[in-house]
Amino acid sequence: METRFAPSELAAQVADELRAVVGKDHLCTNADDLDRYSRCTIPWQSLCSAVVFPASSEEVAAVVRIAARHRLPLWPSSTGRNWGYGTTLAVNDGAIVMILTRMNRIIEVNEELAYAVIEPGVTYEQFNHHLRSNGYKLWIDCTDGSGQGSVIGNALERGVGETPYGDHFGCLCGLEVVLPDGRMVHTGGAVRGLKTWHTHKWGVGPYLEGMFTQSNYGIVTRAGVWLMPTPESYNSYVFEIRDQRHLPAVVDAFRRLALSGIVNTKLHMINDFVSMTILTQRISEQVSQDGPLNDAELAALRKKYGISPWNCAGGIYGTRSQVRLQRSLLREALSSYGRLIFVSDRLLPLLEGVIRWSWKKPFFRRLTELAARTSLPVLESAPYVHKILQGIPTEFFVKHAYYRYRRPRPPGEVHPARDRCGLIWFAPILPFTNAHIWPFLDACKARFAAHGFDFYVAMLLMNPRSVICLMAVIYDQEDADETRHSRELYEELLAIMHRSHYQQYRAGLQSWRELFANAPELQRLHDSIKAAIDPANILSPGHYGIAYPRPAGDGVVLSPTVKE
Ligand code: ADP
Repeated sequence: METRFAPSELAAQVADELRAVVGKDHLCTNADDLDRYSRCTIPWQSLCSAVVFPASSEEVAAVVRIAARHRLPLWPSSTGRNWGYGTTLAVNDGAIVMILTRMNRIIEVNEELAYAVIEPGVTYEQFNHHLRSNGYKLWIDCTDGSGQGSVIGNALERGVGETPYGDHFGCLCGLEVVLPDGRMVHTGGAVRGLKTWHTHKWGVGPYLEGMFTQSNYGIVTRAGVWLMPTPESYNSYVFEIRDQRHLPAVVDAFRRLALSGIVNTKLHMINDFVSMTILTQRISEQVSQDGPLNDAELAALRKKYGISPWNCAGGIYGTRSQVRLQRSLLREALSSYGRLIFVSDRLLPLLEGVIRWSWKKPFFRRLTELAARTSLPVLESAPYVHKILQGIPTEFFVKHAYYRYRRPRPPGEVHPARDRCGLIWFAPILPFTNAHIWPFLDACKARFAAHGFDFYVAMLLMNPRSVICLMAVIYDQEDADETRHSRELYEELLAIMHRSHYQQYRAGLQSWRELFANAPELQRLHDSIKAAIDPANILSPGHYGIAYPRPAGDGVVLSPTVKE
């Protein structure tokens, strides 16, 4: 595979200055490391010139000053696992990538007021482990992505999780930020020591925290994160919709449940292909190895695994009587449209035991599958769903990125970027009504089929009024034709979205240049703010379309991975 760009070299003097700040072991400039940190699952790429790992806010500020002095673009990430959206890639070659994994201190946990103060390198797994092993009666909210992802990184992308605390940016309160000139601010009017810094989100005066999300106005080096007090009672539920004709009624029912507060989580509704990508890989099945599944193959796989056309999952939390009441309200609203199954903490060990035994004994397995009316692999996912909904992360669901991968997926650490899996996320957000959802999904689905891809869609409830229709283009990076089609499909999906007057809730780097094409006045405002606080355009130039750099002489901005 030939790439279109050449590595850019970092001047020796800059490297020396960076080493003097972070130490010689915390700067990478050799070709192998640069290649590793420039790998991504999307079919566009750039190559960085160095990767720097500061250990404190002061070191972050010192690195920013060096970048500013030499007018070099600096591209910060927390843990750098933003797979499917661009990972740590800059829009141009030659950026200094900054990764904050060494800043992984949990500075404070306040159990009484249910918040913690953490640094950007703190991962979901670390955070959850810290709270549980120290006996705090608090739960984090994680995503169904990697447990090695950053709590702050995801919140700054305005990512969503699972529980009532699943609006990750909504749960940030009180930020410490290093600005592009190396100075530090504390949002909310907090000179250090302000007692409400992490309890009163709006502070006093203009509210600026949103400015540091999906932007390039600063580097967040510390944040307060609100947490869920461990509830007295908790159930997860799975709702299977076996007859697709019920889908509109289900959407109406969930909207009513959400508007009235009975559903208060980020409820996930996934189509059959999403389930398929978690359970298996194309190479493991007797199906066409080039294009998408045809109708007969899809039907055969549904039957083999006992997968419904659509599945929903969510959680209910509260006192015992609240949970009992919510269970009966959900049953009342949903039971006529599909099968609703609740899992409690009491049932979980029993379920896990049955699953273990069923893998060992074929006869027992047949009985289990008959009783559960599904396959053992599907049943096996239920305990993971149950745990994610109480903030216990798992790599179980990240396996989807390997669906078209030509080799078996790794048994251990799942890392789609390292393994060169092909995955592009497309994340439009729509009003949560049938009139908006289905025509849009039908139009997108037709384009997936036209380009030879299976239709992957997961609907995540952003709030009672808006739903994210998250689509994944899963392709084989080693196949030049599939790779080209993945790019073309993505462009067409964007065009459909713009024509229909929707937008993305979170955008990958390949869409930043045109992100505000239909809103020139907003683009001007974003760029003016940028010019005021970062006149040399040092910090993540072009991130979310803000101060997008013009192509250099040879036009090398965001190269496709494969030369055609
Ligand atoms: P994760 O590893 O959890 O997916 P990342 O660390 O990749 O999250 O962060 C996602 C994106 O958010 C990054 O590409 C970057 O643009 C932005 N970001 C992450 N951390 C910071 C930070 N501390 N300050 C400013 N922007 C950040």
